[in-house]
Amino acid sequence: MKIDKKYPRERKRRLDSLFEAFSIIGEDTYVYLCDMMYDCSRWSKNLVDVFGLPSEYMYEAGAIWEEHIHPEDRKTYRDGIDAIFSGKVKGHDMQYRARKKDGVYDVCTCRGIVITDEYGQPEYFGGSIRNHSEQSHIDNLTGLRNQYGFFEDVESCISNKTEIRICVVGIGKLTELNEVYGYGFGNAVLQRFGRFMVDHVGNRGGTYRLDGSKFAVITQTQTEKEIRKTYEDLRKYFRKGIQIEDRFISLELNSGALALNEFNTDTQTVYSCLNFAYDESKLSKHGDLVEFEDNLAGRHMRNIETLHMIRNSISRAYSGFYLLYQPIIEAVSGRITGAEALLRWKNDEYGVIPPDEFIPLLERDPKFPALGEWILRTAVKTAKKMLAIMPDFVINVNISYAQLEQADFTDSVWTVLNELEYPPEHLCLEITERCRLLDMDLLRNAVVTLRAGGVKVALDDFGTGFSSVGLVKNIPIDTIKIDRSFIQNIEEDEKEGCLVNSFTEVAVLFGANVCVEGIENANMRDLLNKYDVKSFQGYFYSRPIEKEELLKMIKGSGK
Ligand code: C2E
Ligand code: MG
Ligand code: MG
Repeated sequence: MKIDKKYPRERKRRLDSLFEAFSIIGEDTYVYLCDMMYDCSRWSKNLVDVFGLPSEYMYEAGAIWEEHIHPEDRKTYRDGIDAIFSGKVKGHDMQYRARKKDGVYDVCTCRGIVITDEYGQPEYFGGSIRNHSEQSHIDNLTGLRNQYGFFEDVESCISNKTEIRICVVGIGKLTELNEVYGYGFGNAVLQRFGRFMVDHVGNRGGTYRLDGSKFAVITQTQTEKEIRKTYEDLRKYFRKGIQIEDRFISLELNSGALALNEFNTDTQTVYSCLNFAYDESKLSKHGDLVEFEDNLAGRHMRNIETLHMIRNSISRAYSGFYLLYQPIIEAVSGRITGAEALLRWKNDEYGVIPPDEFIPLLERDPKFPALGEWILRTAVKTAKKMLAIMPDFVINVNISYAQLEQADFTDSVWTVLNELEYPPEHLCLEITERCRLLDMDLLRNAVVTLRAGGVKVALDDFGTGFSSVGLVKNIPIDTIKIDRSFIQNIEEDEKEGCLVNSFTEVAVLFGANVCVEGIENANMRDLLNKYDVKSFQGYFYSRPIEKEELLKMIKGSGK
């Protein structure tokens, strides 16, 4: 609608400024404001869009809105509005069903008040409409904007190209506090923490409560140095200890941060990078703030934009992704008994990006399980061809901890195997050292279920994580794969051989086989053959190769 000459300019200016004020107070709700003298109103743009109203500015908006109200609720609504305009009441608080553009009715709560002029006459009528079907953007516990609010705000910074820094801060061991002192206590900790953060950050940024024990700050003004200082102050404060209820507790924090200054990306990618930095802080930096930098994940992973492109490939039918296969060799006979599928991503601009530069960043992405299933399906299809010419062939597929965490992960494995009619005994799933991030019972259940169904399970990167031995002790594993970092210098350094020997003893103790990765020459193989090693993998035998080449190699080895 056009605001015509009937509506004085000065009044429009006033309507707008009052409307802005209402919008700030009415955060997370739709807002409307009516200049009663002219019956001219301004309504929130998103309300106008969602409900299909004619315009943000409307004459006789009450009557227009009435058309959207469910016929059964109309009378109550009309009576309420009449009472306001006749001056009988000074406000209202009602619930009704309103029809959206798509024809669906949503339950809304509408609250409004009348503002009078200097003579006590009704001048403005304004208020808020809350749509109950919409996701709330406020966290009930802390009153802060929640993850949806955070996503919305990051999204708007991306689309407006506003440079910001985001810092995620989390409380370590909140689960333990919940378990020991109860959820009520855990909630009190979160509330106190949230309040303190808001006060501490002040007007330097906006504070959000994300999932679980994590909070975030978005700032436009702070430099990296200032953020570090703010975080260190927070850390000192909570480490010293705080009194909550009748307990005095000390909290350890973790933190990941990033600067958003490239906008060809999306919120989920930004969130994945933040989570990556946060996990680094938690797992390897004892809680020191980790800034996500272009080179953090690897030298090819130039920026958030690259990750964004890789992520998008998942939605574009996995274009750019492909698998290579590295043969696995039986130690005693020297013949191929299987292969490991290794993921690659390639495009014209960036060339080939190796998996360990993007997988850790994508692991927690909601799109990752789909990619994981594509990898499994593609690898199993290839393996079927190999199995046809080599009856004991086993395909190894790497599984990320985030896949194992999915409640339906084992079902998805059975679906792939059934659909492709592939025998489970010829599949070995490799779980990485990052599995230590998972709950041990959950991991154990998944592994036990997989093995009960015939699938083999290997523990990859053995020795690189601090709890590898703990994992083998608690979880039944078929094979441990000793990381190549342990044998790199085996030719010069005797200690490396001793280490491999102890690892094989651990494996034997728990009934597992040993595979050693990274064999680069015959000498390394000979040195390792002294130990109880079942299989080898390494450039000495073959680099990761295309499936056609693998097929040729297998055909050749049978002769
Ligand atoms: P990994 O599973 O431990 O794979 C072995 C890595 O060592 C491969 O690197 C392989 O190319 C490399 N390698 C093998 N033999 C030698 C050698 O003799 N010398 C040297 N210098 N390197 C050797 P790649 O393919 O870059 O993969 C790196 C990591 O990325 C993998 O480590 C695995 O953790 C992860 N990854 C690869 N593909 C997938 C996948 O499909 N899913 C998941 N979740 N992770 C994957
Ligand atoms: Mg592996
Ligand atoms: Mg490995």
